[in-house]
Amino acid sequence: MALIVQKYGGTSVGDPDRIKNVARKVVDRKRKGDSVVVVASAMSGETNKLVVLVNKIAEIHDTREYDQVVSTGEQVTIGLLTLAIQALGEKSRSFLGLQVPIVTDSAHAKARILRVGEENLRKALAEGVIPVVAGFQGVDEKGNVTTLGRGGSDTTAVAVAAALKADLCEIYTDVDGVYTTDPNVCETARRLDRVSYDEMLELASMGAKVLQTRSVELAKRFRVPVLTLSSFTEGGGTLMKEEEGMESLVVSGVAADRNEAKVTVSHVPDRQGIAARLFQAVADANIVVDMIVQNVSESGYTDITFTVTKADLARAQKTVEGIIGELGAGKVRTDVNVAKVSIIGSGMHSQPGVAAQMFSSLAKEGINILMISTSEIKVSCLIEEKYAELAVRALHATFLENG
Ligand code: ADP
Ligand code: ASP
Ligand code: MG
Repeated sequence: MALIVQKYGGTSVGDPDRIKNVARKVVDRKRKGDSVVVVASAMSGETNKLVVLVNKIAEIHDTREYDQVVSTGEQVTIGLLTLAIQALGEKSRSFLGLQVPIVTDSAHAKARILRVGEENLRKALAEGVIPVVAGFQGVDEKGNVTTLGRGGSDTTAVAVAAALKADLCEIYTDVDGVYTTDPNVCETARRLDRVSYDEMLELASMGAKVLQTRSVELAKRFRVPVLTLSSFTEGGGTLMKEEEGMESLVVSGVAADRNEAKVTVSHVPDRQGIAARLFQAVADANIVVDMIVQNVSESGYTDITFTVTKADLARAQKTVEGIIGELGAGKVRTDVNVAKVSIIGSGMHSQPGVAAQMFSSLAKEGINILMISTSEIKVSCLIEEKYAELAVRALHATFLENG
């Protein structure tokens, strides 16, 4: 008898029939003799609607109240799924994050899990009850409801699997595994049977949202094997385990991240300490910066451009506008219509010309590069958002379809 944590994403629980379908899968698994803990996301589109509601009331908002609102989508699904499981004749009980409890720090909207109170789940399992846990949400030490960042139900599932020392964490979604790039964007994407933690970490952090980056970090830390598969079709699947990598290709995956926005501060005095002051202010506002470019200075002034998540843009703009006077800088401009496309591969650091090939592949499609960043195992380009899909297909064709 194995202990399995099954996570069902938004599309998998998108309507009452789909919820009933999930309930059948859960019950079948239990009747085959396994112990099952379920983690469920909000019905597809629901969290987006809640985020829009918050922003309509206050674009710059208290993140405690944001979490209070956006965490509610999951409460609906766990109740409905529990009822559907009960209707099939099994005992089941739903658990909000605070009822498990899933204890997090207080970084609202991007909280980190500190511990999972596994006793309640173990007690339910011992009584033959199927626990259905709300993904994405937790509770801080003071009792405030927190959320784990968009896509956070994956992280809930892996954290629960780690706490219970489950044999396997199954992530059910709307595609049948992890592909060389988003299969909904690129028809020629190939499914990977296996992927290592490190490769998946790169793919996820560059925007392959099939698994939230934090869930991959946790899985790696606690050695949780994760099987990603479709809740709609049988078979397929990608197993993520240690050292179970893709073929060691120069480029093993392509990803796009549409969640970035660009901030440009013009006419910044080119003096020591200025960049430090600017980015300290941004960090103090608890905003994570991704790419940064500073132009070569002409006549003692330069431009600094950086990217943040779209969700943080309004606060980033306000923060920077608050200190440009002190910095003696010019104007702040922002652009939300950008996307970051990346090629990822552990083989690329020993291979000259990979970046050049990427740039020429984009140039052939007439795509202008706004910013570039590189590391040993990836090259990322910021481009206009409208070209994101075209860029993914072109890069996949260049690096993953030639033989
Ligand atoms: P869920 O709601 O089940 O959590 P998500 O929408 O968060 O599902 O993630 C699944 C989606 O991830 C797929 O529909 C697919 O479009 C996208 N995706 C992006 N990159 C990849 C990739 N490399 N492999 C598989 N899916 C990917
Ligand atoms: N419902 C949350 C979101 O849409 C969490 C998740 O789906 O994983 O971000
Ligand atoms: Mg997801």
